[in-house]
Formats: sequence, structure tokens, C-alpha cells
Amino acid sequence: MKSPRFNAFNPALRKHLQQRLGVWFNQHKRPMPWRNTADPYAIWLSEVMLQQTQVATVMPYYTRFLQQLPDIQALAAAPLEEVLKLWAGLGYYRRAKSLHRTAQIIASTYHGIFPCKYDDILELPGIGRYTAGAVASIAFHEKVPVLDGNVMRVLSRLLLIRENITNSQTQKRLWHIAEALVPRTNPGDFNQAMMELGATICTPTHPRCESCPLNTVCTAQRRHMQNQLPVKQRKAATPHIKMAAVVIDSPQGHLLAQRKAGGLWEHLWEFPAFELPRRNAATASQQLFDLTGLNIKLKRLTTSVTHQLTHRHLEYTIFVGTSKSKRNPRLTADLAGHYESIRWISDLSAVPKSRLTEKISAHSVNRQQKIPTAKPPGPK
Ligand code: SF4
Repeated sequence: MKSPRFNAFNPALRKHLQQRLGVWFNQHKRPMPWRNTADPYAIWLSEVMLQQTQVATVMPYYTRFLQQLPDIQALAAAPLEEVLKLWAGLGYYRRAKSLHRTAQIIASTYHGIFPCKYDDILELPGIGRYTAGAVASIAFHEKVPVLDGNVMRVLSRLLLIRENITNSQTQKRLWHIAEALVPRTNPGDFNQAMMELGATICTPTHPRCESCPLNTVCTAQRRHMQNQLPVKQRKAATPHIKMAAVVIDSPQGHLLAQRKAGGLWEHLWEFPAFELPRRNAATASQQLFDLTGLNIKLKRLTTSVTHQLTHRHLEYTIFVGTSKSKRNPRLTADLAGHYESIRWISDLSAVPKSRLTEKISAHSVNRQQKIPTAKPPGPK
């Protein structure tokens, strides 16, 4: 006979799960700087940084950010450039911009005091149901759930949910279950415990059921189906795009372009880049001339840099060159689609850059070899 499914709406089972999870979390939680604070600003910052980013990556950024901008007022008053510089390398830069804008709204609407009710937090721009739930439950002990990828995985196994978890109906069901499970006492600890369990024990592959505090009630484990769950829709193949990044130095510094607002890497500076299906230096030189009017013989470096985006895989071939020009190149219509400014910058560390640009810089700056003096490309 099949074992019964775990029922999140059964009070006795729910209590059992809450107790076991609570004991386990107290004994096994990983030390993290944001677990030693009740400051909603610090908790909010950690939650935003942790979206799509690993804990180990976030830690130094979190500490540095709080040292520099220790509270809502400091963040609200800081120039966006400074915020982006502190964020540079963490990726998904829209998060930083939204954090900054939200801090300004809290400063003006709530006198710099973080709203303490879930509904008010959810009203703030850039804060979704997950982040509002995390801040309200951890900082203000409000009985509200969180549902991230870790919690979804734990719940789908615990209750043997075989529907596609990316489906909106299934998501609705999962939120409903998460809401039923969260206790009145220490809801923040419970939410963190669920996420911690998913991150460390109930992992996507090879869940360690033998060490899991929920193994006595977990339906998937009893039916040996933990490796088949959760069910996710198969992703379409990610397109692979070949790009060229041009690293040009001149007496004025390096040529950098600033990304436009509203798109990828907005407001960050990068070496000018463009799509280049054929990776040869002559084609890159010609395209650079077409795009900027700079007549430079480029040289291709042997290393390339790859970057994975949600829906695209980018591969950058690096081309280097030297210019004697003292004038900033023109921003042609083609470049203006991506950039709002292009100019020579003498100090690369003075402007906010993405991690991708840092990688390209590490491969190319100061490694620019002597460029052959062959005739540079001219107009087609
Ligand atoms: S028993 Fe296994 S499958 Fe079930 S929640 Fe624990 S780790 Fe996940």
C-alpha cells in the first residue's frame, strides 16, 4: 500500500514539521552576517543581493555595501554611480538601481524608516512577494511565507507535487501551502530554515534524505521519487552569440562606452562591443570604423571570454588596438541603440563596470601587444 501524502493542512503534521525543522535549523544553520541583525535595511539588502547569486559571492559585497552605505538615508542620498560601483560584479544591475530608487521612496514617504507591514513593503517598487515576505517575517516577525526555488523544491518533494512548478497554477498552490505551514512564532526562522534545507540538504541533485529532519514525513522520500521532483518545463536551447569586445588605448586612456538606461548592464561602462559572427581582426577593424569612425588596425587576442545570460550565451573575442586620436569618437546611430556615451577614460577603476568588463580587462589591458603598422581599414 502506498504511504499517505504529507498534508500541510493537518495541524498535527504541521506542528511536527515546524518542530523538527526548528531544531535542525538551530543546530545546522550556516553563519551569515545578515543572520546577526534585525535591521530591516540590512535584511532587505541581503535578500536583494542573494537573488540569483550565491551566498559566498554575496558576502564581501554585502559587508562593503553596508560599510559604505549603512542605512536607508545614506543609500537614498548616494549618487547612483556610487551604488553601481558597489554593486559592480554582482550582476543583474537593475536590482541596484531599484534598491536605490526604493531607498529614496522610503526616505521621502516613510521618513527613512522601513515600513513594518508586509502589505506596505509589497507596495514598494522592485519588491515582490518573496522579498516582502522575507523582510516582514525576518525583521518584523509577521506570519507570512516565502517561496523561492529552494522552498519550491522542498515542498514539491514533501507533498509529491508532480505538476510543473513554473506553471502559474502550481505556483499559486505552492504559495498557499507555504502560507499554511509558516508558524506564528518565529516565522522568520521557519522561512530561513526552509530555504536553508533546500540549499544544503534537499538539493536539486542527490538530496541527502538520510540527514533530513523531514524524512519521517516526506512523501517523495518514502516513495523513492525525490530525484524525479520538482518537475520543471524543459528550457529551449540557449542561443550562442559571437561578440567582439574592442580594447583600445590612447594617450587619453581606454575607450569605454556607457550602457543605456532600461537595458542590460544599464549605466555601466564597458569596452565597446558588437556582434561579430566572423572572428577575424580585419572584419572587427572594419566594423569598428563603421560604428565609431575610428580607423584602427586591431589585433585579435587568443583568449575569449564567455558570459551566460538567462536567455543567451555570449562569447566575446577580444581585439586590441592603439589610437593616437585625442577626440572622443562619435556615437553613431548603430551604437546609440546600446550606449548613451562613448569616450576615453584614463582611470578604469573610476567608473562602474560589470564583472564581464572586469574579465575582459584582466585578459587585455596591459597585454596589448605591438600592433602591426599595416594600412588601417578605410570606408567600404
Ligand atoms: S526527505 Fe529528502 S526529498 Fe524529502 S525534504 Fe528531505 S531531503 Fe528533500
